[in-house]
Amino acid sequence: MAEAALFDTFARAPLRFERGEGVWLVTEKGERYLDFGSGVAVNSLGHAHPHLVDTLKSQADKVWHVSNLYEVPGQEMLSRRLADNSFADKVFFTNSGAEALECAIKTARRYQFVKGHPERFHIITFEGAFHGRTLATIAAGGQAKYLEGFGPKVEGFDQVPFGDLEALKAAVTETTAAILIEPIQGEGGIRPVPKEFLQALRQICDESGALLIFDEVQCGLGRTGRLFAYEWTGVTPDIMALAKGIGGGFPLGACLATAEAASGMTAGTHGTTYGGNPLAMAVGNAVLDVVLADGFLESVRDVALVFRQGLAGLKDRFPDVIEDIRGEGLLLGIKAKVPSGDLVTAIRDEQTLVVPAGDNVVRLLPPLIVSAEEAREGLSRIEKAAEKLAARDMKKSA
Ligand SMILES: *Cc1c(COP(=O)(O)O)cnc(C)c1O
Repeated sequence: MAEAALFDTFARAPLRFERGEGVWLVTEKGERYLDFGSGVAVNSLGHAHPHLVDTLKSQADKVWHVSNLYEVPGQEMLSRRLADNSFADKVFFTNSGAEALECAIKTARRYQFVKGHPERFHIITFEGAFHGRTLATIAAGGQAKYLEGFGPKVEGFDQVPFGDLEALKAAVTETTAAILIEPIQGEGGIRPVPKEFLQALRQICDESGALLIFDEVQCGLGRTGRLFAYEWTGVTPDIMALAKGIGGGFPLGACLATAEAASGMTAGTHGTTYGGNPLAMAVGNAVLDVVLADGFLESVRDVALVFRQGLAGLKDRFPDVIEDIRGEGLLLGIKAKVPSGDLVTAIRDEQTLVVPAGDNVVRLLPPLIVSAEEAREGLSRIEKAAEKLAARDMKKSA
């Protein structure tokens, strides 16, 4: 095997997957791993979903890429379907979550600009947020570890503590363009924002003329058991960023907006080479074929209950390992008592993949197609991992 020539930016686990089937990933050595990480909420329909594979293959025979200088029928269709199933009137397609956020930020600033308020370019965000790794989105996320060494922080991002309404109110000024928030913080540790808080944000935006932006890159597209997480809250945003699950593994993101919020984004103001290309659009439409089918989201909610009950049982049995269970639908967090990295590793030793998050949380993000039986199999593996950690800690303290 040739020595790799990669940047050292990732600390990778020594696992090499060759193929996948549904919720399973198979290594080069033929070991089968239960994938409850879904490539961090990306493989929403699991691996090698027949409808996605067929769609990609047949599109590959037709046309892969055309420029946005021309009309792209797949974009017209996917944008219509996203708009018909959300608050939005308009959609811009990207290749990633960070780019969807960049578009959201630009859309909000540009809206204020064309309304005659170029000074209104500040975006308020929340501690623990994650919005991507571009220069603007690390400024939006505000995490020191992602900002350090990358030059001056992009101007115009003001951060307030998570869930602190008074601090938020104090931060809204004449220069505020928008408030940006994940309805459920993902990387920050599966922290749901109370719906009363989101309702208060909506009201503050309406009163101040600021726009409300939801980052549903991780919590959107069926993950919570509704198409969008905001549907649980009774609040609609003006702008929303999507990615991850929307492409089922094909790089795809989208920025959705009301016609009013998108009114500054006129011809020539923004662009992309790859965004919305025919391959991506074919797959995005195929993902929606499945997720919007009758009964699909209901089955996500049903299997989520199996997880919820199973995890609650594990929390009761292993109070020294598990402190709390959080989240909504199949966006689940185990707040650990032990270091969360230890729990991730112990679960991986049981050939099950989960994802670490902030706040000492372990994320469970199974594919949305996971069955109750697969859920129970995964729970029993997590149970074994918790048992081993509990025994280890018992020995330590003895
Ligand atoms: C992953 C993520 C992003 C960034 O998406 P990329 O595709 O990695 O650029 C932005 N926001 C949230 C909430 C995310 O989970």
